[in-house]
Amino acid sequence: GVKPKESKVDVLIVGAGPAGLMAAAWMAHCGISARIVEKRNTKIFTGQADGLNSRTIEIFDSLGFSDRVWKESNHMQEICMWNPNAEGVIHRSDRIPDTVVGISRYQQCVLNQSRIERWFIDNIKKYSSKNNNAISVERGILPESLVIDESKVEDDDAYPVTVALRTLTEEETTPVQAATASKSAASDGLFRSNLVQDDDEADLLRKSQSRPGTKEIVHAKYVIGCDGARSWTRRALGLELEGEATDYIWGVMDIIPITDFPDIRHRCAVHSAENGSLMVIPRENRIVRLYIQLKEVVPDASGRADRSKITPDLIFRAAQKILAPYKLDYEYCDWWTAYQIGQRVGNSYDVHNRVFLAGDAVHTHSPKAGQGMNVSMQDTFNLGWKVALVLKGICKREILATYQSERRRIAQDLIEFDHKFSRLFSGRPAKDLMDAEGIDMEEFKRAFMRGNLFASGMQVDYGPSNLVVKSGNWRELGDRSEKSAKLLAKAKISDDKFAKKQALATGIPVGKRLASFKVVSQADARPWHLQERLKSDGRFRIVLFAGKILSSQQKARVDRFCAKLDAPESFLRRITPADKAIDSVIDVLTIHASPRKDTELLRDFPDILHPFDQHLGWDYTKVYADDVSYHEGFGNAYKNYGVDKEKGCVVVLRPDHYVAWVGDIDDFEDMESYFEGCMRLPAVSAAQDVGIVVETVSS
Ligand code: FAD
Repeated sequence: GVKPKESKVDVLIVGAGPAGLMAAAWMAHCGISARIVEKRNTKIFTGQADGLNSRTIEIFDSLGFSDRVWKESNHMQEICMWNPNAEGVIHRSDRIPDTVVGISRYQQCVLNQSRIERWFIDNIKKYSSKNNNAISVERGILPESLVIDESKVEDDDAYPVTVALRTLTEEETTPVQAATASKSAASDGLFRSNLVQDDDEADLLRKSQSRPGTKEIVHAKYVIGCDGARSWTRRALGLELEGEATDYIWGVMDIIPITDFPDIRHRCAVHSAENGSLMVIPRENRIVRLYIQLKEVVPDASGRADRSKITPDLIFRAAQKILAPYKLDYEYCDWWTAYQIGQRVGNSYDVHNRVFLAGDAVHTHSPKAGQGMNVSMQDTFNLGWKVALVLKGICKREILATYQSERRRIAQDLIEFDHKFSRLFSGRPAKDLMDAEGIDMEEFKRAFMRGNLFASGMQVDYGPSNLVVKSGNWRELGDRSEKSAKLLAKAKISDDKFAKKQALATGIPVGKRLASFKVVSQADARPWHLQERLKSDGRFRIVLFAGKILSSQQKARVDRFCAKLDAPESFLRRITPADKAIDSVIDVLTIHASPRKDTELLRDFPDILHPFDQHLGWDYTKVYADDVSYHEGFGNAYKNYGVDKEKGCVVVLRPDHYVAWVGDIDDFEDMESYFEGCMRLPAVSAAQDVGIVVETVSS
């Protein structure tokens, strides 16, 4: 037969849903050679996930497209709870804010998943072409086999993963729509629902195998499987999801409602007395999404429900019953699907830290808390920069073990939360205090409030590792990773030491993402949200809280810190490639606490804090004041971050904006050892070889 084409690539991503696209975005922003293959021949147009939590929108901002989300999406403000009254008729019993107040500068938004995928595709194109590594989604492609050469997994230059790909025809990759009697020609999402058996891929492969020239062999350094709940990659690795399906089946409809229900433009949780529960999600373009519990469809003995019984009319009739006595009708349906809730987590997230799984491939749960897409994208937001920086030779390969330790725990927390929440949501409301079988509505409300905090994505708190310096336990490594466990145990510090460090910045918890407050540019008085200065470009950041720089004592401390940072043998100089700008690997930002108008950028701050370039002059974008702005008030950054204005402190951020290290301005060596722990710092003598003069600094 024809010899298949062979090629090499640093990163192969399988699946172009939200998780795969986020992984590709990192590769594009970091200039890594990568390919992303997808079996669908077109992008999706309607339906699927729609909830974006505050953290996801912050991430979109760091990638450069939050403005498009903010403009087009529906912003959710309030949740209304509807429960049966004494007569068993539904009434509004409570209102709570949709996003926990003050938790982020963005509130939860809802928008069609297809728009989100569109923006990713545009963003990936823009950044990858800038970095000369043009990445675009290659459609109509299915992987056929995956082999890891174990003898090469420890070799940084090797391509240990071999994947055979098959190109399909257009016809083969067009999903078959269920014939329905719905009122409009809405597309359904059943082909991606978990109610469908996964028999199609094997079929497709068999067909393409009979056609010559459809096979390609790809040798990759890393593979990221983002191929959804029925992940081919997961099965190829012999990994499994652990957990179980529940008996609750939910229908989902995106309609333009015609109704007298007063809260149709609020997010609502409706518990009827006898007819089940419903969730209302007001969306963009007059659309409203309804999540409806389907009491009439019951799974069979094998635990599967009969897909053919589920029609939009059946789903809609259930919704009408729950909302009675209010009237509900529609003429336009945009999309619908059905769901069987299962809560499962992957038993492992990687094999040899060479092939990784992310998103629905390693966790599934109910859609009601709006978490799936967010957590999936946040998985690869955690993984992507790590892979990129290892490939660039900046970080040690050991950091890749933190992907599983950081993200698997998040999935477990999510499943635990979803388990409780689904039960409360799907259960029948209690008639009175004696009704032990029923769900207590106060308990439901409390769970909802806690749920909102969790669902915002802000509670994510990564444990100690060679990327996060704190005390506590390194959870979830499991037996398989003894080597990493040992390595990472070294990174842990004592409770006492950690408490002292954390006390320097009580509002900047190590392990969580840096919150955002407004600061004012020293050079031009423009106010900025600090997060706006934290682009996702693969750089670590040092945020120097310089304190009252106009006090001579404090200035002396800042000068000493900067002299060490600027010294030829410093980690900063050693990790920066000779032909690159000093801020190309680690970006140093300064926030001082003296009055802006009395302070001078060039006079009061050492050069390393606003580096000079012979073609571009001084860098005016790096030094900020915690002071009032003319038009946007006072951000009170020091107060909000819990940093002392006299003494200041230093904070290290990872490229994904999670706080890695906090310390005193005099703790330079401790900070340096953080970078030694995770980076491949050339030895000082190596620096000498490239012509840098090395002196020993006495501290
Ligand atoms: P997917 O989106 O499933 O993407 C996987 C991709 O891989 C697909 O494009 C698929 O075609 C492709 N693929 C699969 N197999 C292969 C293969 N062998 N080779 C190549 N490509 C392959 N989440 C929320 O956050 N908020 C919500 O409000 C929400 N609502 C939802 C409502 C519904 C009705 C559904 C169905 C889901 C909802 N979710 C929600 C969940 C959300 O859709 C998923 O969690 C999210 O899409 C997961 O992203 P992913 O990239 O991991 O997987």
